Amino acid sequence: MADFAAPRKSLGQNFLQDPNIIRKIVDSLAVKATDTVLEIGPGRGALTELLLPLAAHLHLVEFDRDLVQYWASRNETNLTVHGADILQFDLTPVLSNVDSIKVIGNLPYNISSPVLFHLLQYADRIASQVVMLQKEVVDRMAAQPGSKQYGRLSVMLQQRYHIESLFTVPATAFFPPPKVESAIARLTPLDRILHPVASHADFAAMVKQAFSMRRKTLRNNLKPMLNATQISALEIDPSARAETLTVAEFAALANAFSTQQS
Ligand code: SAM
Repeated sequence: MADFAAPRKSLGQNFLQDPNIIRKIVDSLAVKATDTVLEIGPGRGALTELLLPLAAHLHLVEFDRDLVQYWASRNETNLTVHGADILQFDLTPVLSNVDSIKVIGNLPYNISSPVLFHLLQYADRIASQVVMLQKEVVDRMAAQPGSKQYGRLSVMLQQRYHIESLFTVPATAFFPPPKVESAIARLTPLDRILHPVASHADFAAMVKQAFSMRRKTLRNNLKPMLNATQISALEIDPSARAETLTVAEFAALANAFSTQQS
């Protein structure tokens, strides 16, 4: 057994300890012997030890230098260790020799939404993502228009993925226990994008702008991008608030903006 340093709070280090939950999380990714898997934040290896014998190749992205050193010293033939911040990590080299990869991670909670946004740029090449996050964030990912939880994260993810909230994980399953309840989500790219957008960058900018001030109307929030007449032309009420709009309506707004730019 390796002699690990004390868990680092600043890196969101809450290590999973419950073998049944660990097995359930790994099973949710349905790893095949031909799969390349990328794990975000392996830590002491709760998930990693089960993934190693399953995957054709396993990539680890870990920020903690001691843990990077530990995983590098394991000299496993199907393992590549990347000492990096996942938010800065370019997945292109990992994707270079394969059609797609699967991603898994018990994410550090302080950066969980930014990680999901970062991975969005590779959405077409990630066959499945299984992530553990704060339950509250999973609720936001899957939220529907009109609910309090519905926001930028819900719209951005639902345009690209089928989102499943699989099960919750109590704080007692970790060492040290976190202060919040956790949940497992699985994100699968939609076979057919129901609401296509001409430009993902314009869509992202539109959603961000629409939610920039939650209490304000679309007419006010969208001023830098579209005026009230342009919004009405899409049969969207300019005095509505972003939290009531469907993904289809956000796609229509973004596409109108893209057309105006071209
Ligand atoms: N997978 C392990 C488990 O389930 O027990 C550890 C999970 S722990 C919640 C989060 C892990 O992410 C830690 O190992 C931590 O060092 C790592 N981490 C924190 N910030 C990171 C970042 N920006 N990029 C990559 N890894 C990070």
